[in-house]
Amino acid sequence: MDLSQPSSWRLFSVFCGVAPMASAAVLWFGEIMSAVPLRNNKAVAAAARTVTVLGATGSIGDSTMDLLRGARGRYSVEALTANTNVEGLAKLAREFGARFAAIADPARLGELKDALAGTDIECGAGESAIIEAAARPADWVMAAVSGAAGLKPALAAVDRGATVALANKECLVCAGDFFMQRAAKAGACILPADSEHNALFQALSSGNREELVRVIITASGGPFRTWAPADIERATLEQALKHPNWSMGQKITIDSATMMNKGLEIIEASFLFDVPADRIGVLIHPQSLVHSMVEFRDGSIVAQMARNDMRFPILYALAYPDRLEAPFGRLSLAGQRLEFDEPDLRRYPAIGIAREALREGGAAPAVLNAANEVAVEAFLAGKIRFTRIVPVGVETRSSIGSRPAPRTVAEAREIDAEARRIAGECVERWTGVTA
Ligand code: NAD
Ligand code: MG
Repeated sequence: MDLSQPSSWRLFSVFCGVAPMASAAVLWFGEIMSAVPLRNNKAVAAAARTVTVLGATGSIGDSTMDLLRGARGRYSVEALTANTNVEGLAKLAREFGARFAAIADPARLGELKDALAGTDIECGAGESAIIEAAARPADWVMAAVSGAAGLKPALAAVDRGATVALANKECLVCAGDFFMQRAAKAGACILPADSEHNALFQALSSGNREELVRVIITASGGPFRTWAPADIERATLEQALKHPNWSMGQKITIDSATMMNKGLEIIEASFLFDVPADRIGVLIHPQSLVHSMVEFRDGSIVAQMARNDMRFPILYALAYPDRLEAPFGRLSLAGQRLEFDEPDLRRYPAIGIAREALREGGAAPAVLNAANEVAVEAFLAGKIRFTRIVPVGVETRSSIGSRPAPRTVAEAREIDAEARRIAGECVERWTGVTA
């Protein structure tokens, strides 16, 4: 990652592919770079885009389906997937006339068939069905399965050169190098759907690689931003789940409280935009209106702002390279106060730990991610205290040591499984320990 090289952004190579929508990306960047007005709005608007939503019943899935509901005629649904929620999946598949519905739990195939009886919606169950959903020929795929389980399906979409709106940060944290290499090789178009990375994506087009000083990811600070350390020690599940600004799935809400989410986002940004750890800053911004910023060498800081609603970054990715009308209210800046502060790394050790894992490289980010997933599950299940979550990651990392980065899904799964086993032992030791 040599930032002094006068190369263009990885954006321009990976984000410009050959898939139907990705070719729109080529035209978009072609216009910016060469000032040739090649963009053809008519061609983009004429045909309904086919879309697939992986993780349709989750928080990101729900926001995506809401946007699709508001833009009928522009999009047609190819496939929808869920983990265990048959009822929610079948309801969506019927509502949107999906061609295929897949449930990850293989034991629920019969239930899904019953729920779709009388329709011509095909269905499947198990991991292979989720992968089939991703591999079916949709122009645009939302990758919103939670956790490391999202890697294989996202790769199935990437490998066929699709345009992939990437919400699942674990694809990059667990296998960033090979995920981005596979995307580049297949000519896939990766559009960041995580709000910070979507903001960076929008801001980065204001300059080029040689002009970049750093990217700055904003963080709300979570529910414990102003709490005394002794009170955080006693934080309950209910308190940790009360995010001040965002409504999200449980796992990512707990990650926001520990700020491991911000740590994982540093790693995510590094792989997405090919920027080293020391050029990725974090600022606490309690209002969550500036979603991230890019600082250029002439002193300009370009920020992206919108209301704190995940539908904004998803809408951007869904409409890309166009911009659609947001039907759910806009940000009004009058009367707003915006604050920015350096994060206190004693309060939020997860940021430093994730940064260290990124610097170490190899399998370190994947190990940290797996251990964190186990620790968060244990906290959600009432087994360990809130302040034990981050130490599970630290212990697991030190007991596994340095390992090379995974180069295949099988290697990524091996590392993931080993880290989970060790993190699980750690959790057992700390279960019920209150001191
Ligand atoms: P969620 O838990 O609300 O939803 C997860 C979805 O994935 C559900 O549809 C679930 O059925 C499905 N799923 C879970 N495990 C599965 C498995 N093993 N196989 C197949 N499907 C499975 O999660 P979410 O909050 O929507 O987050 C999804 C992803 O997006 C995560 O990677 C998260 O980090 C990222 N993200 C979320 C937000 C947010 O606002 N929620 C913001 C940025 C990034
Ligand atoms: Mg985010």
